[in-house]
Amino acid sequence: MSLIVQKFGGTSVANAKLIFNVANIITRAYQEGNDVVVIVSAQGDMTDELIGKANEINLNASKREMDVLLSSGEQISIALLSMAIEKLGFPVVSLLGWQAGVMTSSTYGSAMITRIDPGRIKKELDKKNIVIVAGFQGLSQYYDVTTLGRGGSDTSAVGIAVALSADLCQIYTDVEGVYTADPRFVKDARKLDSISYDEMLELATLGAQVLNNRSVEIAKKHHVELEVLSSFVDVPGTIVKEVANMEKILISGVAKDSNVAKISIVGIPDTQGWAFRIFSKLSARDINVDTILQSAACNGKRDIFFTIREDRLDDALEALSKYCESIKGAKLTYDKDVSKVSIVGAGMQTHSGIAAKMFEALFAAHIDIQMIATSEIKVSVIVSKEDTDEAVRTVHNAFFATMD
Ligand code: ADP
Ligand code: ASP
Ligand code: MG
Repeated sequence: MSLIVQKFGGTSVANAKLIFNVANIITRAYQEGNDVVVIVSAQGDMTDELIGKANEINLNASKREMDVLLSSGEQISIALLSMAIEKLGFPVVSLLGWQAGVMTSSTYGSAMITRIDPGRIKKELDKKNIVIVAGFQGLSQYYDVTTLGRGGSDTSAVGIAVALSADLCQIYTDVEGVYTADPRFVKDARKLDSISYDEMLELATLGAQVLNNRSVEIAKKHHVELEVLSSFVDVPGTIVKEVANMEKILISGVAKDSNVAKISIVGIPDTQGWAFRIFSKLSARDINVDTILQSAACNGKRDIFFTIREDRLDDALEALSKYCESIKGAKLTYDKDVSKVSIVGAGMQTHSGIAAKMFEALFAAHIDIQMIATSEIKVSVIVSKEDTDEAVRTVHNAFFATMD
């Protein structure tokens, strides 16, 4: 007998028929003699719809009240899924995040899990119940409901798998696993049998939404293997683990992120300390700076270009506008029309020419590279938003078209 944690995303429970499909997957695992704990997301586009409802009332609603609202989506799912399992004749109990012992920081909207006390879940398992837990939500030290950020049910699932020392953590979704690119946009993307934590973490952080990056971080830290698989098609998925079996593959995937804005500050006097002063203004507001480019001094002036998340642009401009006005000769501009396209692969550490191959493919497709950033296992380029999808396809093609 094993303890299995299964997570089902929003598309997998979007309507009554799909809820019964999921109930069948769960009860099959239970009938095989396993303890089964299930984490569910809100149905379909429910979370977006709830955000829309809030915006109709108050565009500046407090994050606390947003969390009270958004967490309700998952409450609906756990009740409906439990009702379906009851109807199939199996013992089941649904639990909200706080009932399942998920404690978080009080950063509404992007709370971090601080501790999970799995006592109640264990009691329910001892009673032979299937346990259905609301993903994406927890409780702060002030007894307020919090949410973990978009895609946060993955994090709930992995956190609960760690707290229970589960034997298996399965992330069921609407595609058959992790692919070399988003299979919805790149038709010849390939499914990977396995991928390492490090590569998956980079892909998730760089825009591959199939797994939330924090869930991968937790899995890596606690050595929990994940299986990403389809709730619609019964075939093996992708295993996320320490070392992947990918002898032939130099890069494991291509990802895109359109939530990017570029800020340029040109004409800064060529004296020391500007980068520190500018970036500390942003860090004071918790704004992460991504790709950074600083020009060499020319006529006693320097330019700095960097990217941030587009949804933090207003905050960043507020933090920097007045300050830049006070720097004699400096000019602050921004560009929302950019996105980031990245390749990720552990193979880069041992093979040369990978970045060159990416740049060559973009050049051949007449796609202008505005900025470049690299790390040990990734190369990212900033391109104009309208070029994003073409850039992903072109780069994917360069690495995967001739592989067999
Ligand atoms: P869920 O609701 O199950 O959490 P998500 O929509 O969050 O599902 O994530 C699944 C989606 O991730 C897929 O439908 C797919 O379009 C997208 N995706 C992006 N990049 C990849 C990738 N490299 N491999 C697989 N899916 C990807
Ligand atoms: N329902 C939440 C969202 O849409 C959490 C999740 O799906 O993981 O972001
Ligand atoms: Mg998701």
